[in-house]
Amino acid sequence: MQYALDERAKAALAQRNGAKKILTELVNLNPKDDPDNVAEAQTFLNRYGSLDPRSDHPELDVLAWASIFRFAWNARTPEEIERTGRHLDNIFKAEVDLTNLYERPAIVADFATGTWKPEPRYLLDHLGLQLMESSRMLHRCENPDCDRYFIKGKGHKKYCNLWSRWDREIDRVGTCADIMRRRGQYNSVERNREAINARRRKPQAVKKRRTA
Ligand SMILES: [Zn+2]
Repeated sequence: MQYALDERAKAALAQRNGAKKILTELVNLNPKDDPDNVAEAQTFLNRYGSLDPRSDHPELDVLAWASIFRFAWNARTPEEIERTGRHLDNIFKAEVDLTNLYERPAIVADFATGTWKPEPRYLLDHLGLQLMESSRMLHRCENPDCDRYFIKGKGHKKYCNLWSRWDREIDRVGTCADIMRRRGQYNSVERNREAINARRRKPQAVKKRRTA
């Protein structure tokens, strides 16, 4: 069987950091694991086509894999890491049956060079391979109002580069890094104001304590 990658996925993967962007979008989809959130899955499908063209339930697939990739992101203990490895094995393996005798896995043997090489068949393979490649860069945004999943790159150490709303400027958005920098500025202005006010209040405060 020939695997033709969906044209929409092909175009998105060809963009700079394409696989990273799709993986990040998937993993931030339906974060509360709502099994009925088919609308979000459908939006993803409209944008990229199915994760695995063999599946009869592409929406459920999207929700299930979003949840599994989140598990991988948060895996810390040896058990969680091993389970993540098994999920990845499941992505890459061939499912051979009588109708599909020559299905190949996503990682193939090249006997001439004596090496294994990844040859992704469909979108899920691309995302699984990206997860492997980024295994040490999987991170959650440290902006407490965001907490979204992202892949660390240069210049994005603590905060994601996804859009969020400004705190005090309604109708404006910025990246979490911008917002946290701005929040730091607000705080330092406030600390200064507090310090000035405290100095102004001081004589009164002393007086109050005496009368108490
Ligand atoms: Zn963020």
